Amino acid sequence: MNADGTLRFACTECGERAIEPGACPRCNADALMDVVDPEQRRVLERIDRQRMRARSNRLKSVAVLIGIFAGGFLFGLLAIAGLDFGHFVVNWIVRIAGSAVIAGGAWAVLERLFGDARRYPFLDDPLPKAKIANRD
Ligand SMILES: [Zn+2]
Repeated sequence: MNADGTLRFACTECGERAIEPGACPRCNADALMDVVDPEQRRVLERIDRQRMRARSNRLKSVAVLIGIFAGGFLFGLLAIAGLDFGHFVVNWIVRIAGSAVIAGGAWAVLERLFGDARRYPFLDDPLPKAKIANRD
């Protein structure tokens, strides 16, 4: 992706960059934002954060299910094998904590495999005003 300042517009639907305002050259949505406009930059950042958080929350839900089922399976096997941790309260604490650890690990793996990258990393760069001004 070119971030040299000539691709002044970014699509809120697909992330494509464009030289001219109007419809997105990739997805044809009428959703191009001017990356030189501070207000529109903030909108793009917010849209990106919301998109990434929504994906992360879906992955977290899947991870919790994995933790519940894998933890139930693992600690069920341990119980069948006659392994326990003493008092029944301790057993439940260990099972719940173990399932939470499994869910946390699953979430980390899912984020790594399926998590979304930032769509507008060029927003970290300073405003390309000088280059835009030279172009006009
Ligand atoms: Zn688009």
